[in-house]
Amino acid sequence: MLRIGCHLSSAKGFLAMGKEAVRIGADTFQFFTRNPRGGNAKELDLVDVAAYLEFAESNGIAQIIAHAPYTLNACAKDPGIREFTYRTMCDDLSRLSHIPDAMYNFHPGSHVKQGAEAGIQYIADMLDRIHGHGYGTPILLETMAGKGTEMGRSFEELQSILGRVEDSSSLGVCLDTCHVFDGGYDIVGSLEQVLAEFDAVIGLGRLKAIHLNDSKNGLGSRKDRHEKIGKGEIGLEAFRALVRHPRLKSLPFILETPNDLDGYQREIAVLRGFCT
Ligand code: FE
Ligand code: FE
Ligand code: ZN
Repeated sequence: MLRIGCHLSSAKGFLAMGKEAVRIGADTFQFFTRNPRGGNAKELDLVDVAAYLEFAESNGIAQIIAHAPYTLNACAKDPGIREFTYRTMCDDLSRLSHIPDAMYNFHPGSHVKQGAEAGIQYIADMLDRIHGHGYGTPILLETMAGKGTEMGRSFEELQSILGRVEDSSSLGVCLDTCHVFDGGYDIVGSLEQVLAEFDAVIGLGRLKAIHLNDSKNGLGSRKDRHEKIGKGEIGLEAFRALVRHPRLKSLPFILETPNDLDGYQREIAVLRGFCT
């Protein structure tokens, strides 16, 4: 069965997210570990976490994704920002150790004026430092649209990071459909070729989650503007193929479309309909 959910607000805690997910027909979800613009995270409420874990177990919720804040930049030129990124990710990962089934997704960052090579090295160095702590949560690098000097647009660049890390066994990739399309991968006209390319360059074994978003802009636009499923340039048929694809269908699919909960509920129903 399709595992699908959407991005939810973590403001009311984990149990509230679990209940919200069930209400809209989801069996997974994503949340920000803290304010997406950065800042301190709330104290983790272990009573809420325990209640959530029991609720998730009895309601079949699994493979949830914790999303790092947008303000992090592992490959910033400013060492202070790199250190802040490292400390924030360590703090997030130590909290996530209380939620056994979660994965941690982050944007590789922007190499502003340093070049991709320097960016790759900074990101790999940070992942090595994090790995030294032995946090158990898998870490996912998200495929990016390639706005400005954003890292992670090409599969080759993601693989360069993964290949540079000393022990990449707990690392994976989260493929965002809007981002790869805006980055120039034609998942509408040539899904098979794009997946074959992913497999050849990175390996499909690394693919751990999918962000399902339509795009307001065309192939290769490098814009990163999400659209509702079927209302953008990717279109409904491409999403049908994605959620039904034998190499993808066991992965968690997360909607990050511009929607309220009712909108998410409708999109989940449509996408589930493709898989019955
Ligand atoms: Fe993201
Ligand atoms: Fe995304
Ligand atoms: Zn995006």
